[in-house]
Amino acid sequence: MKQLTIKTHAEIELIDVTDEVQAALKGLGISDGILLVFIPHTTAGVIINEGADPAVREDLIQALKRITPDLHYRHMEGNSPAHIQTALTGSSVLIPVEKGGLCLGTWQRIFFCEFDGPRTRNIWIKAI
Ligand code: ZN
Repeated sequence: MKQLTIKTHAEIELIDVTDEVQAALKGLGISDGILLVFIPHTTAGVIINEGADPAVREDLIQALKRITPDLHYRHMEGNSPAHIQTALTGSSVLIPVEKGGLCLGTWQRIFFCEFDGPRTRNIWIKAI
């Protein structure tokens, strides 16, 4: 397993980590299989979505904020919207690997999703 560490810069932010994941894949030494990208945090997630138009990221953030309003939540830490946003995005993605490369669609990129930043975060990558 490999660990990537990234620094986030905003409270809510979608960061394209496709190149970093691809580089980590090379270090794992598998040419065919499945790559697990797992986020070991409760207020950050991971998604695969369009990377060509940065507006898609902004729209995703806007929609996630809208469906997780700051209500009177019971969680004392005060970051329940971030926990809910993480539950909605999920904590892992699986990506097929062939000939040492990630098999992603033309417009697909892997995005680390920060929901309670800025922080230093980890990404765990395991080849299957
Ligand atoms: Zn919390």
